[in-house]
Amino acid sequence: MKTYPSHKFWFIVGSQLLYGPGTLEQVSAHARIMTDFFNQSDAIPAAVIQPGIATSPEDIVALFRKANADPECAGIITWMHTFSPSKMWIQGLMENQRPLLHLHTQFNRDIPWDSIDMDFMNLNQSAHGDREHGFIHARLRTARKVVVGYWQDPEVLARIGAWMRAAVAFADGKALRVARLGDNMREVAVTEGNKVSAQIQFGWQVNGYGVSEVAQRLSSVTEKEIDAAMQAYEARYDIAPEVRVNESAMRKVRAQAAIECALRRFLAETGAKALTTTFEDLAGLPQLPGLAVQHLMEEGFGFGAEGDWKTAALVRAMKVMSEGLLGGTSFMEDYTYHLEPGNEMVLGAHMLEVCPSIAAARPRIEVHPLSIGGKDDPARLVFDARSGTAVAATVLDFGDSFRLVVNEVEAVPLPHSMPKLPVARALWKPLPDFKGALELWLLAGGAHHTSFSYAVTAEMLEDWARMAGTECLLIGRQTSVPELRRQLERERLYRR
Ligand code: MN
Repeated sequence: MKTYPSHKFWFIVGSQLLYGPGTLEQVSAHARIMTDFFNQSDAIPAAVIQPGIATSPEDIVALFRKANADPECAGIITWMHTFSPSKMWIQGLMENQRPLLHLHTQFNRDIPWDSIDMDFMNLNQSAHGDREHGFIHARLRTARKVVVGYWQDPEVLARIGAWMRAAVAFADGKALRVARLGDNMREVAVTEGNKVSAQIQFGWQVNGYGVSEVAQRLSSVTEKEIDAAMQAYEARYDIAPEVRVNESAMRKVRAQAAIECALRRFLAETGAKALTTTFEDLAGLPQLPGLAVQHLMEEGFGFGAEGDWKTAALVRAMKVMSEGLLGGTSFMEDYTYHLEPGNEMVLGAHMLEVCPSIAAARPRIEVHPLSIGGKDDPARLVFDARSGTAVAATVLDFGDSFRLVVNEVEAVPLPHSMPKLPVARALWKPLPDFKGALELWLLAGGAHHTSFSYAVTAEMLEDWARMAGTECLLIGRQTSVPELRRQLERERLYRR
């Protein structure tokens, strides 16, 4: 069973009629063997189908039109087994609306030194057939990923798999509804943006709702529904002993469970898979949704606090990308620093809303006052995030374009317990180094809110940005700080 059962990828193998039916039968047989292999590989998260060999302009345009019309087709992989004159591909490629990956491979791994003859040479021509194919993409300036290497090479399969994950997230985004409860936090710039531009670019349908929509549904939540939510919490989380023995604190946990039930009903009725809240607009809700959105995020909903719909949609995209992978993905905020020379670190957290999918151990439900908002003490999950390699990503709206900024980081175990900090927390070292990464993040305009993931890779995000036609700026292990600083400066001057 594949990770994405409702998405498929088409493997279009190019050739031409010049070689005669015998050769084309061999091409077809090889394509079938490769397709079967992809379908059996754990590195390939969705089914690959082989719709036939492309040998003429008519074939090719028909294949792309069929792919465009198939809602299950999330992307197209092309490979030229033989030489396929690429003027034949122009119309098909110009009409293509699916993410495209050009696989530059060859059916045989090794040169058969003893038996190689001209028949073999004429059948196995990817080395030059794919160059002809690469040229026409470059000429048409098509956005595509090029993956090079033997088709059974684990690195090749992993790169195809990463692209497929990005493509499914991209397809999900085309139908994504983001429910924005209240506006964004007053006077904040980075969480603002043009919702029309975002829908054109990413497909995200962002619409505002009054928080009263949730409050109305809250009044009809039954005790039985709250009991069921409490049982779900008990199954996954611990309730802090001091909460369990405190009747008033337990009532606040139940109030949070009721908010979750109301939110669930609202999300189901609106079809939204991502949401935002804001502590500045909680009319009719007894608490800021904390535990409630933490549990919803764990189930795969995107979330952004303070009206941050761009991050909510990005969290959702990264939840889809990381489906079935270990590690977890969460809404996150860069909160405060540890500036010990040579051991600089970022402490990430939020008022409440960090996803338990990134927890190192079983999260604990606690109830504490919220220092802003003037509402009841909200119930929330408290935990330390796991250690390991992760990415922090942010989408920015510069008025005329969007930019995705990604930072690779190394999350580290907490060196000390923080008994007085009543929220979930993560600690990490940005790469390539603290000072360089943060200088570039600020020069790039990177936000304080991010989508933080141990499962999504920079490669998936770069692939996803390319599909959306958005700039992706990666600050990572391999980044040269002076080089990227100069690139940002050139770009600033160009934009002016
Ligand atoms: Mn925030």
